Parts: sequence; C-alpha cells; structure tokens
Amino acid sequence: MQTAKMSSPKLRAVEDLVPPSPAPSESVPVFSAPPAVKMLSEILPDDPLLMMGAGPVPIPDAVARANSVVINHLGSTMSTIISQVKAMSRYVFQTNSEWVLGVAGPGSAAMEMAICNLVAPGSKVLCIVNGFFSARMAEMSRRLGADVVIHEIQGHHAASAAEVEQAIATHRPDCITIVQGETSNTVFNRELPAIARAAKRHGCLTIVDAVCTLSTMPLQMDEWQIDAVITGGQKGLASIPGVSLIAFSDDAWARIAERKTANTHWCLDAKLAENFWHKGSYHYTAPVSGVLALHEALRLVCAETLPVRFARHSRCSFALQNGIEAMGLRLWTAPSSRLNSVIGVSVPDGLGSPEICNHISGQYHVEISGSFGLPIVRIGQMGEQCRAHNLFRTLHALGSTIRDLGAKVDIPAAMATLEYSLQHVRTA
Ligand SMILES: *Cc1c(COP(=O)(O)O)cnc(C)c1O
Repeated sequence: MQTAKMSSPKLRAVEDLVPPSPAPSESVPVFSAPPAVKMLSEILPDDPLLMMGAGPVPIPDAVARANSVVINHLGSTMSTIISQVKAMSRYVFQTNSEWVLGVAGPGSAAMEMAICNLVAPGSKVLCIVNGFFSARMAEMSRRLGADVVIHEIQGHHAASAAEVEQAIATHRPDCITIVQGETSNTVFNRELPAIARAAKRHGCLTIVDAVCTLSTMPLQMDEWQIDAVITGGQKGLASIPGVSLIAFSDDAWARIAERKTANTHWCLDAKLAENFWHKGSYHYTAPVSGVLALHEALRLVCAETLPVRFARHSRCSFALQNGIEAMGLRLWTAPSSRLNSVIGVSVPDGLGSPEICNHISGQYHVEISGSFGLPIVRIGQMGEQCRAHNLFRTLHALGSTIRDLGAKVDIPAAMATLEYSLQHVRTA
C-alpha cells in the first residue's frame, strides 16, 4: 500500500506577500502609558465587601458566570436568549404586552428611554416627586421641552391617590411619572395601583420607575394599567449594573407609533430598539455579556417564583427593621410610607452618615449607603441582600460601628429581635 507523501505547503516568496499599508507619517505615540498601574488583585480588598447598600447588590454565581461570556450579538443563540429574556420579563412585569425591550445603560437610561419616547416637546407631563429619583424624571421631561407640572410631596411621605387624581383633573397631562419605591429617602408609593388606574380613566399614560422594587414586591403592570415600567439590573433583579429593562403597554406603543417628530435620542429610540429586540436585526451592538447575566437573574426569579420572592423580601426586611429599632435606632420613614426594599435609618445625634459608612466598611467590611445629604444611612433589602446570614452580619456591624463611634446601642437586643422576628413574623 502506498501512503500519500505529505507535500510541503507551497509558500509565496516574501516579495510576493501583500505589503503592510504604509504607516501614517506621524505614527509614534506622543503620550506614554501610565507608569505603575496596579494589578486588580492589588486594588480589590482580600476580604470582599458585603454589598448591603442601595445598589449595586451582590450577584448570584450564575449571573457572574454568564457575565464572563461573549457571543455573537446577532446569532441564533442570542435570538433564543432574547426571546427567553422577553418571556421571563413579561412574568416579572406581570404583563402580556409584547413591547418588552432591553437597554444598554443604567436604570436612568431606561428612565430616559421611557420619557423620550412618550414625551414629545410641548406635551404636558405631571411628575409626582417624592425625592431624588422621581425628580430625575421631571428633569428629563423638562430637558425634552415638555410642559412639566411638579406634584411634590414633602416630608418623605407617599403620594395620595386622591390628591394625584385631583392634580390630573386640574392639569390634564398627557403623561404622569411616578416612582414605586423612592430609594433616596425610602418612601413607598403604596397607592400606585389607584394612581395608575386614575390616570388611565383620564386618558393619560403612566410611567413607573420600578428600579429598586421590581421583583422585591408586587407590581402588576397590566392589572394596574401602567403604560411604561422601567427597571435597572443592579437592584431588585440582582444582576449587574448597566443593562436595564423597559416594558411599554399597547397604549404606550400606539403613542410611539403615531409620533410625528423624530426622537432626539438615537440610542434610546424604541422603534430602532425594536429592530434588535423583536426583529433579530441590528440597532447597536448589544451588551451581550450583560444580557446573558440578566437572563440568569431573571431565570432565578422565575425559578423562585414571585410570591415566594416577595415573601422572602418582606420577611427579611421586617426582621431587619425590628432589629434596628430594638437596637435603639429610629427608622426614617413612617410605617405608612415605608419602603421595604431599602431601609432608611436615622443617624444618631452627634454622628454623621459618611463616618458611619466609612467605619462599617473599613472595620467590618460591610458596605451601606448614605443618602444625598439626608441624615440617614440606607441598607438595601434587594435580591441576595435578603438572606438571614447577611442580615445578622449587617446588623451586628451596624451596631458595632455606632458603638465604636461613641453612641449608645443595644446590640444583644437587636440580634435577639432579628432572630425572633425571622422565626415568628409571618408575611402574607
Ligand atoms: C438606582 C435608581 C435609579 C437609577 O438607576 P441607575 O442604574 O443608577 O441609573 C432610578 N430610580 C430608582 C428608584 C433607583 O433606585
């Protein structure tokens, strides 16, 4: 038997190779690379901080693993992932609406996407403002050239449906904006369902910011007749920051379709985003790794189911609130307007919120948040933050910090109350 002889590859002569294109005339870099850049391992703490602030929150392993993968943003694998992300999002938003889209950007980009698609220059917007984030929606509307009416609620209280309906009747807006949970001062707009339904009765659209609340407490987009819901990745959903979600109702989509003026935001134009999220074609290169991470975060929400997830959040949050009060500290918002997803704790007299946050992080490796100048510290209760072991560590670290800084707290009473409350408080 004869074996075929391996023929050596025929190589071109060097002079026949394609020559490199000529370098530009000034091709030597003017600036040199920064000297002595540290390795990440030298910068990141050995003992990772427990992220118990107002976001970003700790991410589950499945989310972290997904976030390290890059795939073709227009291939068939991506198309399967996109359709699952939309299906799972519909469950999380509690909507049958087809118009679910992802956004490459923070929660604020999703907010801007809702507003710039539904608010045209000159349209009238009633912005219900409880604090920092709901004020951001008013500012975005103003920048778009809308006629903005602000319905401000002072003193960290929730909006009253009766008062909002009165304001809608008076001002006849095309659109209202409202936050479900105002993360900045821990106010919960408990009457959101009645407010959204009232808006619908008056023929106006409702845009809801559910960045910190989605999947931590009930939100029923269709039942409550909400027209646009936005959320970020890094809070209630326990995914990474920078990839967000938005859902529009059919009424909202009809308004987008009939719009005469071009959207001034190209990246946030919902009709262009539809190309990628519904038609398998190109808008901009999607943040594939972040979408995969979001897929995993949503899959975990679906596996847990919303009712079980809500119960876990309220049980943990109530237990932590009880523990904080048993320690001798005060909660910032009254029970009637209190948000569970983020807890605001009044800073004891004589202490400042930055020194508490620095001390608890430096000494106990627990990260909590201050709040834009308010005399409070904030502890998140979103996603993985709502686990008993994280509550014990956080409450103990908070008590120890305040004791170290010279104020009086009852740490044993706090820890016992946390345990007792976790065992005994039943949530619906
Ligand atoms: C965090 C937050 C935002 C902003 O989200 P970013 O991802 O920081 O842009 C908006 N609204 C609420 C209620 C938030 O908690």
